[in-house]
Amino acid sequence: MVIQDLFTAARKIVFKFGSSTLAGEDGTMNTVFLNEFAGQTADFIKQGKRVVIVSSGAQVAGLSIMDKWARKKDIHYRQALCAVGQVQLMEAWRKVFEPHGCHIAQILLTQDDFNDPIRTLNMRNTLFTLIDEGIIPIINENDTVSVEEIKIGDNDTLAAQSAILWSADLLVLFSDIDGLYSKNPKEFPDAQPIEEVRDIDQVRKDISMGAVSDFGTGGIATKLDAAQRASSYGIPTILAHGGRPRCLEALSAGRQKGTVFFS
Ligand code: ADP
Repeated sequence: MVIQDLFTAARKIVFKFGSSTLAGEDGTMNTVFLNEFAGQTADFIKQGKRVVIVSSGAQVAGLSIMDKWARKKDIHYRQALCAVGQVQLMEAWRKVFEPHGCHIAQILLTQDDFNDPIRTLNMRNTLFTLIDEGIIPIINENDTVSVEEIKIGDNDTLAAQSAILWSADLLVLFSDIDGLYSKNPKEFPDAQPIEEVRDIDQVRKDISMGAVSDFGTGGIATKLDAAQRASSYGIPTILAHGGRPRCLEALSAGRQKGTVFFS
């Protein structure tokens, strides 16, 4: 019921997708998912809601055409792979939104952009202009220029920062699990779901956090950090499974479970 209420009340929503949602089991882009999600987002927009997407997946998309780079660990190759993949990623998003008459825009950011007040103001103005014009901004980290010092590092944090920048009403982190558990549900079948979190510091002490998936970057720890960051600005966060059938509709109708982090 709570998730349903949050969706009903929210007008400005940030959706974040991890690579594990955007990649299918074979490691290639999950176009079935993208199609389904675009249709549901377009319905949301028709209801008067406004949407920003934070999308990982540049590496996955890059590997779908540069598979010979799969084993190259050199940083320049990783960044080159993201540069190639970012085009594929945006093309995939563009294609699925086009039939619904929705235009998309690419925004690539680094931590430097959030640290500099003038850049932050410019980002904010561009974001608001795009959204006012009915365009869906799709944000990702600018991996080509991101060396360690200016790296945000994971898109959970980027999503929280974007939600704060836009003064969003709700942040939704889609992953490949149905929310937060007492321990990693992929390793421990007896892990208990936690549907509501009001004290993130306490929950960090109460749960155990397992390893990160193949394509994932931050694991559950960065999701908790992101929820905490958003909640300090009064923005609630939902962590839910992006791979469930028609997940947006299901969540907003109260049919799908997840974890709510209250602000
Ligand atoms: P994404 O790519 O969607 O951002 P990640 O792979 O980075 O996802 O992080 C999500 C993963 O965190 C889950 O697939 C899960 O296996 C793992 N995980 C570890 N500990 C927990 C926990 N306590 N509750 C839920 N998930 C956990």
